[in-house]
Amino acid sequence: QEDMRMFKLADLNTATINVFSWARLQPSEEIYDFEQMDRIVDMLTKQGYDIVMGTSTAALPAWLCHRYPEVTRTSLEGIKNRFGHRHNHCPNSPVFKHYASELVEKTVERYKDNENITVWHISNEYSGICFCDNCERAFRVWLKKKYKTLDKLNKAWNTDFWGHTFYSWEEIVVPDARGDAIGYDDSAFAGISIDYNRFNSDALLDNYIMERDIIKATLPDAVCTTNFMGKYKQLDYFKWAKELDIISWDSYPSYNTPISESSSNNALMRSLKQGQPFMLMEQTPSQQNWQPYNSLKKPGQMRAQSYQIIAHGADTIQYFQLRRSIGGCEKFHGALIDHVGNEHTRVFKEVAALGSELDKLGDTILGSRVKSQVAIVYDWDNYWALEYTSGPHKDLKYNSQIQKYYDVFYERNINVDFISVEDDMSQYDLVVAPVLYMVKEGHAERIESYVEYGGVFLTSFMSGIVDQSDNVHLGGYPGPLKDVLGIWVEEFDAIAPGMSNSVEMNSKAYTCDLICDIIHLRGAKSLAEYTSDFYTGTPVVTKNTYGKGEAFYVGSSLTPDFLDALLDETIERLEIESYGTTSHNLEVISRVNDKGQEIIFLINHESFDQTMSDLFVGETDVLTGNKISETELFKGFDVKIIVR
Ligand SMILES: [Zn+2]
Repeated sequence: QEDMRMFKLADLNTATINVFSWARLQPSEEIYDFEQMDRIVDMLTKQGYDIVMGTSTAALPAWLCHRYPEVTRTSLEGIKNRFGHRHNHCPNSPVFKHYASELVEKTVERYKDNENITVWHISNEYSGICFCDNCERAFRVWLKKKYKTLDKLNKAWNTDFWGHTFYSWEEIVVPDARGDAIGYDDSAFAGISIDYNRFNSDALLDNYIMERDIIKATLPDAVCTTNFMGKYKQLDYFKWAKELDIISWDSYPSYNTPISESSSNNALMRSLKQGQPFMLMEQTPSQQNWQPYNSLKKPGQMRAQSYQIIAHGADTIQYFQLRRSIGGCEKFHGALIDHVGNEHTRVFKEVAALGSELDKLGDTILGSRVKSQVAIVYDWDNYWALEYTSGPHKDLKYNSQIQKYYDVFYERNINVDFISVEDDMSQYDLVVAPVLYMVKEGHAERIESYVEYGGVFLTSFMSGIVDQSDNVHLGGYPGPLKDVLGIWVEEFDAIAPGMSNSVEMNSKAYTCDLICDIIHLRGAKSLAEYTSDFYTGTPVVTKNTYGKGEAFYVGSSLTPDFLDALLDETIERLEIESYGTTSHNLEVISRVNDKGQEIIFLINHESFDQTMSDLFVGETDVLTGNKISETELFKGFDVKIIVR
């Protein structure tokens, strides 16, 4: 009852419940006890709250692990987990599936008539990987379905190498540390490890689908989701997104996460369902507990972060957690209601103020969409393949290359979508695909046709190298992208840490590092050349005219000022809408609603005052009703919203 009083004071309208309650709901195999949950549901319902109903299957009850040891996971090292932690279920355990299904059936049956339940939150933060015997058997079944014959599988994995040939399905073992894995991120056989990641992502997705289908069998119109975690490596979120009714995700930047990275995480989450507004399922109102340094969010910072998420497409903001627990590993994780237990805290007041402000904003923002002329290709298979591959450079990481290009657009306040390798490119003026290492069947043809009809495409070093099985496209790099790019890459050099190469574009000198491609022109034009090492004078950046469009190739990791110079010309020529380059971390993003109104969010992510962009002078900030003046300073962590 006290919580209900405080929720009202904080202007909350929704509560997520029942996320980790399995042990409470089912104290033993034979007994279910919904008494406490009934009371919570009743209280929230009587007070008119919307309820996001969890299914509680993300943390196993102790009795289940004690009685059926098979339900827990086996680690990469081959160690069989016992009871403990959360996210500890084997996705392929028939016993887990049986008891999880039964729990979801009972929960749906009990609350099916409650009209306050607006969303079903299935499990929680699906994650991790299991290498147990059940998974091994299921992996073989998955492989049989994919490859049909051992001959095809052996070809796909190129098992002639190191004499890995399989003569029966039973000989195939999971690629754990006792087999082909070299730690979590490397593998002796990338093809096998990539398939195992695909299999594990599918197995966890099957767990999600199992629960969702139980809910929908009784409630066909139920809105189902599970909370994602940004660029989380282990799960192919584009594939998962197809099975979710709405994307929801948990945003936990640390004290030093670049703002542009939070920006790209939100853009990616929005893009998983092609721009459909999403839910922020979790953020902390103040601090975290699980990072090395859990700094407080400074006054106003939580509000600024919340508006960043809304600006990128969220239609709801939720917090973890509502009341700080007294024990367990998250007792120092921030909460609306602190250990002191009253509403007289800074954090409570900030949450309440934001709640009331969002209430006043009304429906202007709800349902509106971010419109982008630029897309960046994001692909989990590429993420896995690039990082499993042995060589050429240990520091070559997928997300940092993606972020490097995202930053160019972030700095110019240009809206960016992410697209999968299957998504339509034709609605974008510019498509950027950094380190498109794995080019899967049909993708090169789609890129060619996009460029032929006038699209502008940009890719980088380590692109077009392998097919979907991680086998090299023969005939010269960048494989199937050679024609559209009009080049042949003969070799790629790895530049050791602390070293760099120099390049020149339009008589201006720049530096580059990480990888240096040695490129031959095959119809493309050179835009910049190396000025040192034995490949001095050879191209590092090229542009090819192909049909009505253009394809750029960037053969090295170039400094931001080089990328700026390269892309500025293209951005201008393509008339890509930008809100201009603003002061540092003063982010501008826009959404467009059904009435055609453009809602522009201006967010100062820094704690200090900054100069306002003169682009918005004279416009009205709908949050305060004040006109933006010419001399106005943008206060630290302040937010302004303009509706045009
Ligand atoms: Zn398993």
